[in-house]
Amino acid sequence: MVRFLNVRKSYGELIVLDNLNLDISPNEMVTIIGPSGSGKTTVLRMLMTLETIGGGVIYVDGKPLTHMPKNGALVPADARYLRKARSSIGMCFQHFNLFPHMTALQNCMEGPVQVLGLSGREARERAEELLMMVGMIDKKDQHPSRLSGGQQQRVAIARALAMRPKVMLFDEVTSALDPEVIGEVTNVIRDLTTRHSLTMLMVTHQMGFARDISDRVCFFFGGKIEEQDSPDELFSNPKSKRTQQFLSAVK
Ligand code: ATP
Repeated sequence: MVRFLNVRKSYGELIVLDNLNLDISPNEMVTIIGPSGSGKTTVLRMLMTLETIGGGVIYVDGKPLTHMPKNGALVPADARYLRKARSSIGMCFQHFNLFPHMTALQNCMEGPVQVLGLSGREARERAEELLMMVGMIDKKDQHPSRLSGGQQQRVAIARALAMRPKVMLFDEVTSALDPEVIGEVTNVIRDLTTRHSLTMLMVTHQMGFARDISDRVCFFFGGKIEEQDSPDELFSNPKSKRTQQFLSAVK
């Protein structure tokens, strides 16, 4: 469903992604862990086309995301192509980024109406169903400032799902939350892995959560995958010295 093929990214002299190759199967939940600065968030930002690509190609659902076919070759995608290509990807960030002047319900209806062209009634039905799913239907008429961090994050997840993405990205979605509300957000994501067919890529510093819900965990180091495996294998029996050192430092 998602393929990074020799993807490179640098900022000046700093190489952030170093010929990265990563394949994610349909409905797979892959988690990226690794030290600060190893390029984890950059992977998600590249998939959201928030960053330009320095080399290589990213494919989503068999189609190039960063490039478009032209005269039998792939050329860098223009803005129109990118807008369409990235509509199959949803992302939730550490800092929720809800529209502050809209209620929870309006936040979830905005994209489907403005971008997908759904009628108000269709968008409302879809939004209410998703707010129900994330346990936020009772608060649908509240503005974000009246919601706790955990509640805002659950609305942000519903808002992203309202666009019916094929791929969902989660970037440190629990790290700005108080410990007592982390569970309500992780439960929603856990639910998505079991009840919905969705391909997911997550960056987290919460090793317990990564172990609990991932199909595969990738340990990043220096813009590359140093080691990847099933969570049980990677956490119980890491092969690389760097993975071992990282895991013993974060335990
Ligand atoms: P963390 O765990 O701290 O969030 P990360 O593994 O997600 O780190 P990235 O955010 O992907 O790391 O950043 C990788 C490297 O790229 C870092 O050294 C960072 O300072 C650098 N970087 C990221 N964005 C920019 C930018 N816009 N300009 C210059 N350097 C950047």
